[in-house]
Amino acid sequence: VNFGTVTISEADRSFWKEVVGFLDEHAEAIAEQEWRTGDGVNPDVYKAMGDKGWLMPWLPPEEGGIAATPIQLAILARELRAHRVPQNAYSNTMQVIAMVNHFGTAALREEVALPVAQGDVRICLGYTEPDCGSDLANVKTRAVRDGDEWVVTGQKMFTTTAQHAHYAFVLARTDPEAAKHRGLTTFLVPLTRGGIEIRAIHTLGGERSNMVFFDEVRITDHYRVGAVNDAWSVMNSALDIEHGLGESSSAGFDVDGGLNFTGTLALTLDAAVRWAGQPQPDGTRPLDDLHVRQTLAMIAAEVELTRLPAGPPGRVLSSESLIANTAIILELIGPDVLLQRGEDGAVADGWPEYAHRFAQGTAIYGGTTDVHRSIVAEKYLGMPRSRAR
Ligand SMILES: Cc1cc2nc3c(=O)[nH]c(=O)nc-3n(C[C@H](O)[C@H](O)[C@H](O)COP(=O)(O)OP(=O)(O)OC[C@H]3O[C@@H](n4cnc5c(N)ncnc54)[C@H](O)[C@@H]3O)c2cc1C
Repeated sequence: VNFGTVTISEADRSFWKEVVGFLDEHAEAIAEQEWRTGDGVNPDVYKAMGDKGWLMPWLPPEEGGIAATPIQLAILARELRAHRVPQNAYSNTMQVIAMVNHFGTAALREEVALPVAQGDVRICLGYTEPDCGSDLANVKTRAVRDGDEWVVTGQKMFTTTAQHAHYAFVLARTDPEAAKHRGLTTFLVPLTRGGIEIRAIHTLGGERSNMVFFDEVRITDHYRVGAVNDAWSVMNSALDIEHGLGESSSAGFDVDGGLNFTGTLALTLDAAVRWAGQPQPDGTRPLDDLHVRQTLAMIAAEVELTRLPAGPPGRVLSSESLIANTAIILELIGPDVLLQRGEDGAVADGWPEYAHRFAQGTAIYGGTTDVHRSIVAEKYLGMPRSRAR
């Protein structure tokens, strides 16, 4: 880890100003829409960012980016978090486009790469099913070959952002006779095809996810990503990106789009500090109480600590710290904190109450924190696998 300071050039400063100006202009609309729908994306702002080349800013302009410097990538990531721009659709799309670029055919890349960078195409992740999540080798959705076509039938679960996606990256069983993890193949399924139904799931955290049903959906072989029955190679790369392993863990731009949840805790702490500085009905300020000051200072120290590690260690620490500390903040503030955004007397416009609900899901999606602990044990410490192959 390099703890040295960095020099920010004039060009980076003016980029920073432009990013802040753009996000300040849209922040209220984004927050309002996210609160109302939990969609995980504001399609208009998403497209506007694509037009600016800010979705895949590391790419050269002819590929839809701005050839951003590492500092510019970090500025963008930081401001997106600070302005509470939801990253779900973005992070899903980025994970899949990396797979399409690596394992897809030239024709498929041609179809989706530039539209993705320009904000015209979003992709959701179709891995989880009613009977499998952590253990994806149990996928039951079938894809059966019929000439040059594949016929996909099955159900996906928690397919977040499908309602605003153009394709689903689907893990499907193509050889029911093969060993569980061998008979699987990945496909990019256009969501405009007949036979697809998307039904909403609303989570405790206010997020919108979906069930997606595939009823004999026909796609050509053009939409296959990777070799037949070799989804495991594709999924290993896809999950490494989702888990923040390999190249993605050291990239200046955080491609996991927010699986380090410290930003949410930092915003909750800010809200609590503002609350603590206000006189209460009895005239006292919570900040004048030593216990309140010490508790908030402890959380501030955790915010700094959990910001540091990338990848799975950061995921485990930041999720568990968010869950524990939002609960502590709720107790500190007391019953008023349960008033929701828009209600009279809501603390910090309901942010701590929302953050506490949101925190619970962070231990589950993108691989649970238990699974990430095993990854830390195996990949960082070289310990044996905790489960059978
Ligand atoms: C809000 C939300 C959004 C999501 N979005 C998506 C999405 O867009 N696309 C998608 O495909 N999926 C998505 N998911 C699904 C998510 O990835 C799974 O829920 C997750 O991987 C856990 O799988 P499961 O729910 O089947 O639980 P299980 O795998 O059944 O786990 C149950 C419990 O057992 C523990 N456990 C399981 N296996 C192990 C192990 N090997 N070692 C230690 N502990 C273990 C888990 O930690 C958990 O506590 C989303 C989930 C949520 C809640």
